[in-house]
Amino acid sequence: MNKEEPKSKFLKISCSECENEQIIFNKPTNTVQCLDCESTLCDPTGGMGKIQSKIEEVFR
Ligand SMILES: [Zn+2]
Repeated sequence: MNKEEPKSKFLKISCSECENEQIIFNKPTNTVQCLDCESTLCDPTGGMGKIQSKIEEVFR
């Protein structure tokens, strides 16, 4: 039996602009920016963030 649990995960993503890799939360409350070039990596939506870059790895 699966209990309803929030699917909170950490993602490793790479910036689409500069390929800098960053670990982000998949439900961000604020816009996540690349630490290198400041392009938007993930937009907050109130639930699952809208990923604007490439997901390299998902941590559970
Ligand atoms: Zn970047």
